[in-house]
Amino acid sequence: AGDTAADDTSWLPLREELAGIAPYGAPQLDVPVQLNVNENPYGPSEACVADIAEAVAEAARTLNRYPDREFVALRTALAAYLSRDVAAGQAPITPEQVWAANGSNEVMLQLLQAFGGPGRTALSFAPTYSMYPEYARDSNTAWVAGRRREDFALDLDAATGLIAEHRPSVVLLPSPNNPTGTALPPAAVDALCAAAAEHGNDGRGGLVVVDEAYGEFRRAGTPSAIELLPTHRNLVVSRTMSKAFAGAGLRLGYLAAAPAVTDAIRVVRLPYHLSATTQATALAALRHTDELLGQVDALRGERDRLVDWLREQGHDVAESDANFVLFGRFADRHAVWRGLLDHGVLIRETGPDGWLRVSVGTPAEMAAFRDALTIVTKENQ
Ligand code: PMP
Repeated sequence: AGDTAADDTSWLPLREELAGIAPYGAPQLDVPVQLNVNENPYGPSEACVADIAEAVAEAARTLNRYPDREFVALRTALAAYLSRDVAAGQAPITPEQVWAANGSNEVMLQLLQAFGGPGRTALSFAPTYSMYPEYARDSNTAWVAGRRREDFALDLDAATGLIAEHRPSVVLLPSPNNPTGTALPPAAVDALCAAAAEHGNDGRGGLVVVDEAYGEFRRAGTPSAIELLPTHRNLVVSRTMSKAFAGAGLRLGYLAAAPAVTDAIRVVRLPYHLSATTQATALAALRHTDELLGQVDALRGERDRLVDWLREQGHDVAESDANFVLFGRFADRHAVWRGLLDHGVLIRETGPDGWLRVSVGTPAEMAAFRDALTIVTKENQ
């Protein structure tokens, strides 16, 4: 839909850097087994659906009015949820530390609108989430990508060296990383925050955004970067309701940071960017936190079994703290991706050459994936 590639666009006053660029997004195909965009495969219960419907009906009664521009009730509920991740003795997260927008993509674009811009640099380490350079492009921020090690972990010396060299205003660090699943140890976040404070933004200090979109799927033992907020005022922790929280359709991402950071974002946000129905839906979903997160442990177990099985089949597999697994390497990964699709299994053709990424689904979906991959790898040997 909307594919007008054949139309003449040469007359458009399009920004030069956008010419010929395809919009970002995985294929949205109607196939039985969808393991391509790292969603939670478990939908809400009827009780949760009824509660959301009632909350949206209540919001609809005053839809003639603009919504709460500061979304105080939602920030308060998100602060309470984030406070589950503070360390023993650490103060709870306050509503003034929380910001939200329509997905964490919008949250991070707003961060670059406020803290990036012409003459400034955003930095990350590849392979990583492919939207990051798009936030940079769209906010006219220069983009620098260092490399990860062979095992997809960060080489800390090289990473801090790159920060000293390029003096970025914003460092984007997903933990776990997409598409590799690699989590960042707290000591690494600590060192990178210190490096960004010292060298970032031409020595005035840059922000470090730890993107914990998949944070709830971490294996035991790696705490959230939330624990480091009291130590580093330049640290921003980004989260989303799209993944573990089973709310991809809701479009609600959020962050925790120093109140000065959230205050600055208010300058670039569009007025009333969070609709009344979004706020009502998110608040209702947060009342069902335990249910919506209820399958996270099962998904972690399914992930670990998937990693073991892929290794048994002789594939290379990246360690994963997320709800997806990067595996390979295939001489013709497109043929494998296509072959799986022919068996009704949609995964993602992304990551370094030869690798593919599969999201963790229900046990039945994983069985379908294993069966299809067994056939397709034989065909592609
Ligand atoms: N960060 C990472 C690492 C992601 O993989 C994604 C989604 N694919 C997002 C952020 C954005 O998700 P959302 O806008 O749904 O919160």
